[in-house]
Amino acid sequence: MTQDVRGVVATAKGAPVTVETIHIPDVGPGEAVVQVQACGVCHTDLHYREGGINDDFPFLLGHEAAGIVESIGAGVTSLAPGDFVVLNWRAVCGSCRSCRKGKPWYCFSTHNATQKMTLADGKPLSPALGIGAFAEKTLVAAGQCTKVDADADPAAAGLLGCGVMAGFGAATYTGGISRGDSIAVFGCGGVGNAAIAAAKLAGAAIIIAIDLDPRKLAWAKEFGATHTIDGSRENTVERIQALTNGNGADVCIEAVGNTHVLQQAFYSRDLAGTVVQVGVPTPDMAFPAIPMIDFFGRGGALKSSWYGDCLPSRDFPMLIDLFLQGRFPLDKFVSETITLDDVESAFHKMERGEVLRSVVVL
Ligand SMILES: [Zn+2]
Ligand SMILES: [Zn+2]
Repeated sequence: MTQDVRGVVATAKGAPVTVETIHIPDVGPGEAVVQVQACGVCHTDLHYREGGINDDFPFLLGHEAAGIVESIGAGVTSLAPGDFVVLNWRAVCGSCRSCRKGKPWYCFSTHNATQKMTLADGKPLSPALGIGAFAEKTLVAAGQCTKVDADADPAAAGLLGCGVMAGFGAATYTGGISRGDSIAVFGCGGVGNAAIAAAKLAGAAIIIAIDLDPRKLAWAKEFGATHTIDGSRENTVERIQALTNGNGADVCIEAVGNTHVLQQAFYSRDLAGTVVQVGVPTPDMAFPAIPMIDFFGRGGALKSSWYGDCLPSRDFPMLIDLFLQGRFPLDKFVSETITLDDVESAFHKMERGEVLRSVVVL
C-alpha cells in the first residue's frame, strides 16, 4: 500500500527547507517502513541544504531518528511490525572484504532502501544519509533498523543514530579510552560532548574540554569534563600540557573538522598517544603542515573515525540499556523538542550555538 506523508525537503541549494507531501512506495524486499516518532536536527542536514554534500536535490532531510516499524518487506527476518527501533546510516552488508575479515564496523558496502520515496509530482527524493526521517514515515533498508528497549524516550533514543554514537565511538572504539587515561576533546557540540560522556563512563581520570563558546564549555562540564579551556583566550596546547604533568593527553579527539584544530590536537597529545579525527572537514581543508620528524618522533596513532567505528546492532541496545540505568545521559543532549514545521528555525538556532540538539517529535 503506497502512502502520502508530510516531510521536510531541501529543494535547492541554500533555500529554506519546506514541508512537502512525500510519497512512500509499498515496502519492497529487504526494506522496512518506519513510523518516525522523533528525529534530531544535525549539522549534516544543514550541510545537505547548503549543497555541501552533493547536488542531488531535492533532499528529504533528517537522519537521527527512532520510531516504530510499520511494515517489512519479503525476506526480512530481523524485524517485526511494532518493533521500537533506532535508525542507522551504516547498515553493514556482512559480505564485503571488511565484513569477511571480521571487522563489520568498517563495512565498505553499507546499503539503503532500493526504492525511492518521491515528491507528489513523482520527482525522486535523496534521503539524507539514506534515511530521510524528518517525515511522518520513511522507507529504509531493514538493516538500518536496530531494535532497542521500548522504554526509552524516542527523542533521546534517536540521537544515537548519528552524532552521539559518532562521539561515543570516537572516544571508546577509535580512541580506546580507558580507566585512568587523560583525554582532550576539541569542540563541544553533540559529538564532542558524547565523547566526554564516554570518557567519564570509561573511567578517564582527566577529561579536558576545549571550545571557543563558553556555553558549550558549560555543557561539557555537565557531561563530565574535569577541566575546560576557552581556545579563544588561552594557549590550548600549553594548558593541556600543564593539566597533564607536562606530558599531553593520552587521547585527543578532534570533533570540529578544521586544519588548525587538528594541528592543536596533534601537539596536545602525549608520546605514543592517539589523535582521533571525527569532526567532518570540508573538501577545501588540507592536512596541517606537520614536520615528519614530529610525526615519527612522537609515535602513537592518527586515526579517523567513521561513525565512531560503531556497530549499531552491538552498540545501540547497549547504550539504550545504559541510558535506562542512568549511566549514560542521552536525554541531556535534547535541548528542545519541535515540530516538522520548525526545522528551518532550528537550523538558525544551531548556527548561533544556542542548542545542543533540537529534536523533531511527531
Ligand atoms: Zn560489509
Ligand atoms: Zn548527523
